[in-house]
Amino acid sequence: MEYGKLQLYIDGQWLDGGKDGEDVINPATGKALGRLPHATTADLDRALEAAKKGFAVWRKVSPYERSKIMRKAADLLRERRDAIATEMSMDQGKVLAESKIEIGLAPDHIDWYAEEGRRTYGRVIPGRAEGVMQFAAREPVGPVAAFTPWNFPMNQAVRKVAASLAAGCSIILKGPEETPSACVALVRAFHDAGLPAGVLNLVFGVPAKVSEHLIPSPIIRKISFTGSVPVGKHLAAMAGKYMKRATMELGGHSPVVIFDDVDPAKVASIIGPFKYRNAGQVCISPTRFFVHEAVHDKFVANFTEYTKGLKVGEGLDPASKMGPMANPRRIDAMETFVADAAQKGAKVQTGGKRIGNQGYFFEPTILTDVPDEARAMNEEPFGPLALVQRFSTFDDVVSRANRLPFGLAAYAFTRSAKTAAAIGEAIETGMITINHLGLALPEVPFGGVKDSGYGHEGGIEGLDAYLTTKFITQVGA
Ligand code: NAD
Repeated sequence: MEYGKLQLYIDGQWLDGGKDGEDVINPATGKALGRLPHATTADLDRALEAAKKGFAVWRKVSPYERSKIMRKAADLLRERRDAIATEMSMDQGKVLAESKIEIGLAPDHIDWYAEEGRRTYGRVIPGRAEGVMQFAAREPVGPVAAFTPWNFPMNQAVRKVAASLAAGCSIILKGPEETPSACVALVRAFHDAGLPAGVLNLVFGVPAKVSEHLIPSPIIRKISFTGSVPVGKHLAAMAGKYMKRATMELGGHSPVVIFDDVDPAKVASIIGPFKYRNAGQVCISPTRFFVHEAVHDKFVANFTEYTKGLKVGEGLDPASKMGPMANPRRIDAMETFVADAAQKGAKVQTGGKRIGNQGYFFEPTILTDVPDEARAMNEEPFGPLALVQRFSTFDDVVSRANRLPFGLAAYAFTRSAKTAAAIGEAIETGMITINHLGLALPEVPFGGVKDSGYGHEGGIEGLDAYLTTKFITQVGA
């Protein structure tokens, strides 16, 4: 299986960077797939100048013309889906079926924003005196610096790129160094679709060096970051220091509340596959399972049966239902979380161990009766770890669900309309999905509260993130 050449893309040119770079590792084998060049400081300066020039060009292109180029890029991605998905499974590890879904959805995000960009309406505000006209006009905020992570290499990047281009912004994308192929493919589609030089630029490097160079630059007007809470807080502080607009999509620790009026087997069949998607390396992954004591044992039995039957293997093997962890840091984290929870009294229902010593495979794992003191109940697991606790009352489960500083996604299952309404209101979260799984579509807002960040991607809110309002008032001469 061929893994394509990796390059930087600055001012419409594909570049090989300087002498620094890193090997991209296949997490299923631990072996190198290719070499990723890092941008030099001079490359970053060129990207900044390109973004400045690109913004001057792109903001003058009408939303109608922008949408045509964007739709063309979306069609190219559709045509190239299988090849891009294969490369993404090679460097990220996720199973091919999941990669195809992720790449297949990317053109939908682009198409949606291509259309929505044509509806960046302002408003007319009645004047106080005759002849006074007042407008609130919507304008692109300016060149964007975007930082995207390794868990959804296409999805996290396409949402930032599509929304900023639709708004009329230029963008420098720093893709994930460990899983770079999808960002290269995304940028190639826009290049081939005829996007003017400098409007979209792609760099890789040492993340801290790149962000410390781009964020203070007066050229950059907007920061968008997806990643961990500590890095998000660091970048948000930098954005504040330099007075840059920022969107922060950070980590979560999603509660799943399962009430006593549901069929626990059915709930296990819905939430089980979702738990192990991308080996649990998902910011909205269900992690803390609060199950009413009346249905707890039946739910755990069904969930455990499903989990034990899950075939773990290389992402490109069609039999695999869960791939490896994306990097060895996640294996270390899983081993630490499981040992700590077990030592504090949790029961390992299934899993809990690394699989073999080639690649970074870890068993899908369920821990029950996990005490609140366990580290995994407090830190984002970001892996195939399900933590189960039993509850008895509504108030008790709400306070446990809201105990942590995170507030990204939440899930609830109940047959009662009254309970559904009450839980929807009571959970401190940016998103809640009740009795089904319905997050992260192009047209709906996606974002967190509390330490999970601020701002949205997706929906009209996602476009708003790249627009600013200018007030214009005039009287006839
Ligand atoms: P990390 O905290 O080192 O990095 C997280 C992400 O931030 C990576 O993509 C990294 O390249 C980037 N990053 C790190 N320092 C940066 C800097 N100074 N400037 C710009 N970008 C920077 O951790 P990690 O081991 O890569 O990932 C583990 C943790 O990250 C997980 O536990 C999870 O909480 C979080 N994470 C969240 C998401 C998400 O979708 N919200 C995605 C990936 C990782």
